Amino acid sequence: VGALTARDDIDKVQQAIADPNVTTVVQIAPAIRTAYGEAFGLKPEEATVQRLATILHHMGFDYVFDTSFSADLTIMEESSEFLEFMKTKKPNDMPLFTSCCPGWVRFAKSEYPELLGQLSTSKSPQQMFGAVTKTWWAKNHDLTPEQVVSVSIMPCVAKKSEAAMPSMTRTDGTPDVDYVLTTREMNRMMKSEFIEPLNFPESQLDDPLGIATGAGMIFGSTGGVMEAALRTGYYFVNHEKPDADTFKAARGEDGLKEVNTELNGVPVHALVVSGLGNTRRLIEDLKAGRRHADFVEVMACPGGCVGGGGQPIHDGCEMAGYRAPTLYKLDRQTKLRCSYENPSIKTVYKEYLTAPLSPLAEELLHTEHVASER
Ligand code: SF4
Repeated sequence: VGALTARDDIDKVQQAIADPNVTTVVQIAPAIRTAYGEAFGLKPEEATVQRLATILHHMGFDYVFDTSFSADLTIMEESSEFLEFMKTKKPNDMPLFTSCCPGWVRFAKSEYPELLGQLSTSKSPQQMFGAVTKTWWAKNHDLTPEQVVSVSIMPCVAKKSEAAMPSMTRTDGTPDVDYVLTTREMNRMMKSEFIEPLNFPESQLDDPLGIATGAGMIFGSTGGVMEAALRTGYYFVNHEKPDADTFKAARGEDGLKEVNTELNGVPVHALVVSGLGNTRRLIEDLKAGRRHADFVEVMACPGGCVGGGGQPIHDGCEMAGYRAPTLYKLDRQTKLRCSYENPSIKTVYKEYLTAPLSPLAEELLHTEHVASER
C-alpha cells in the first residue's frame, strides 16, 4: 500500500545520527517486534524489542522509544471521541471508523469520500508520538523542535506518505515525524553494519515514551485497536477496571469479526475488518442497511500491521497468523493491560495535555481528513 510514493530515507537517517547538532529519537511500532528477527534466523522469543533497543542505541540513536506508548495515547483520545459520538448517534447512522491505518484512510479518500466525516479525527500512534516528542518531550529536554530528528520504524510503506502529509506538519514547518523506515529497511541498516542481534543483550527502552501497556502492543494485530479502545471505554463509563479479556472476540485472523457489548447501559455493536476487499464489502453492506455497526476498526492489510507491506517477505507465505500471537503473549505477560493505566500517559496529561479532547489535545493529536490530501 502506498508503495509507488515510497522513499528510502536510510541515508538521511544515517546523516542525522552522525550530526552532533541534533538529537535523534526513534520509535518502534508494535508489529516490528514480531518480525525483525526473521531476517536473522531468530526465534520470536529471541527477537525482543528490548534487544532491538540495545541495537538501535549501538547504531547511534540517542533515544529509543515505543510506538505502543502513543498507541495508548491514541486510545485515550479515540475512546473519548467514540463515547462523545455515541451521545448523538441515531440507530441508523453510519458508524465511527478508526483512522490509524493510512492504507485505509487513503482508500476511503479515493473510494468513499462521503464517509470522511465518519473517520476518527484522532491521529495514528506514529503521528501522536511525533507531536508529543516535538513539544512536551523536547521542552522537557531544553530542545527546540528543529533540534529533534524523529524517526519511526514501521511495518508499513503507507506510513511514509502519512508522515509527509501537510496536515501532519507543525505550524513552524517541521514535521511531527521526519523519517520513516520500514522493518526491511531497518534490517538492511543492521546488516550493513554487520550486526548479529544475538551478540547484543536486552535493555529497557527509554523513559518516559518507552513505557507501554499490553493494549498498546496489540495495536499491531487486526482487532487490537478495537479491543484496546473498548477496555478503556469500559473504564471511562464504569470507573472500574475491566477484565482485560472481556473483548477477546476482536482477536483472530478472520477478515470480519464482531464484538457486542454495552457501555453506559447502551448496546454497542463493534466490527473489526481487515483487507480492503472485506472493507469494501462491509461498507456496501452498511450503506445498504444490510449490516449495522457503531464502531468499526479497519486495517488495510489482511491480519493487520503484523502482515504489513514493510515487514520481511517470505515468498508465498502469509505471516500475520504466525506473528500476531507474539503480541497477545506480550499483552498477557504485561501487568498493565489498559491504556489509561500507563504511568507515562498519566504524566503527559497531568503535565501538558490536561485531558483527552482538551483544546491542546485537539490541536496536537487530532486531524481533519481531506479527500484531496493523499
Ligand atoms: Fe500500514 Fe497495513 Fe498496518 Fe494499515 S494495516 S497501517 S497499511 S501495515
